[in-house]
Amino acid sequence: MQLIILDRDGVINEDSDAFIKSPTEWTPVRGSLEAIARLHRAGWRVVVATNQSGIARGLFDMDTLARIHETMHSRVIESGGLIDAVFFCPHGPDDGCSCRKPQPGMFHDIASRMHTGLRGVPAIGDSLRDIQAAQAAGAMPLLVKTGKGSATVRHADFDPATPVFNDLYGAVNHLLAN
Ligand SMILES: [Mg+2]
Ligand SMILES: [Zn+2]
Repeated sequence: MQLIILDRDGVINEDSDAFIKSPTEWTPVRGSLEAIARLHRAGWRVVVATNQSGIARGLFDMDTLARIHETMHSRVIESGGLIDAVFFCPHGPDDGCSCRKPQPGMFHDIASRMHTGLRGVPAIGDSLRDIQAAQAAGAMPLLVKTGKGSATVRHADFDPATPVFNDLYGAVNHLLAN
């Protein structure tokens, strides 16, 4: 079983500084649904790990987040893909939780749920905290330039050894070719 961990906002769907607060605001990044379908057809298990502090901020509730994820699952399935599980952190930056990236808590939960280690497991994100969480968990971080990614590559703390791709489709193309 090959596992891959994807960030959501800025990787699968277009990010918004105003947060994705409803299913209608969820718009896929070009090529991302096809990329997930390619992973699924190649036998990969696709799991999402996403910070959703909009819950803690009171911008949307758990029920709305569930409906947003139903939309995401439906769009992925319509495109021939499958997301096995979505792990999310509902906390805010000051809550001191262990799941909000850059903390590796969600990655550890995924490893435990999927009964696997994370060494060599690709973890694709657009933010520095995605890369840091993946590194802390011993996974293999990859950055995409969609969402916050083009700013992340210029960040002083960005590890230049991290592979960078234009988008999820490009990253998946690379992973499936190797
Ligand atoms: Mg993101
Ligand atoms: Zn959390």
